Amino acid sequence: MGYSITPLLTGVRNPDQGIMTYQQGYGKRIWLPIWSFLVRGEGRNILVDTGLDENELFVPQGFIDETGLVPQSLIECLVQEGLSVEDIDIVINTHLHDDHCGNNALFPRAVFYAHKDEIAFCRNPHPIDHRYDTAFIEGTSFVEVDRDLEVVPGIRVLLSPGHTVGGLSVLIETTQGPAVITGFCCNAENFPANGPAVCPGVHLDAIAAWDSIQKIKGLGARILPMHDLGLQKIPG
Ligand SMILES: [Zn+2]
Repeated sequence: MGYSITPLLTGVRNPDQGIMTYQQGYGKRIWLPIWSFLVRGEGRNILVDTGLDENELFVPQGFIDETGLVPQSLIECLVQEGLSVEDIDIVINTHLHDDHCGNNALFPRAVFYAHKDEIAFCRNPHPIDHRYDTAFIEGTSFVEVDRDLEVVPGIRVLLSPGHTVGGLSVLIETTQGPAVITGFCCNAENFPANGPAVCPGVHLDAIAAWDSIQKIKGLGARILPMHDLGLQKIPG
């Protein structure tokens, strides 16, 4: 068994590195790509996150990802993979910030997975976290996850709270071995070669976020930090 993973570039922002790494990297402007991950195999087409709403898509002049990609709408990204919105069987939302569920409404056939507490928080967000927009999940009926769970053979969601109340990382058996898409916003700077991983810069519970990122690092799987530049495809 082995799935492929194709990162689809649905947007880019230009924040401070401190958004990614708690108490580190402040004062450094970064390109922050917004990915949706297309996971294919075993006759299934699965999306991990649905990226940024097309209406929020803004491509800064001259921006191009290290892989040569330019951000475009999720529909356009899928067309390039030979797919339409009807072809998507399953959507897993790692969490429900606007840049991770902005296109949920596009997929009429998909079965959606998200954490129970994340869904509740998104429906009734606390004003401290402005990244929630209930409109993005209106009409989405979810399979509500409350524990580590095998979604389909070879794809597991793992509880990873802290960045948000109900983050889910996604562990995938790929053609190149296990890979994990983090359930919290981070980039390569969160995973230094030596020492512990760095707590995500945005969090509702810093200690839980720190524990979650160590747990994901400790899996020994290839890590796909969900806001990293130049993420490579894992082929089928
Ligand atoms: Zn994010």
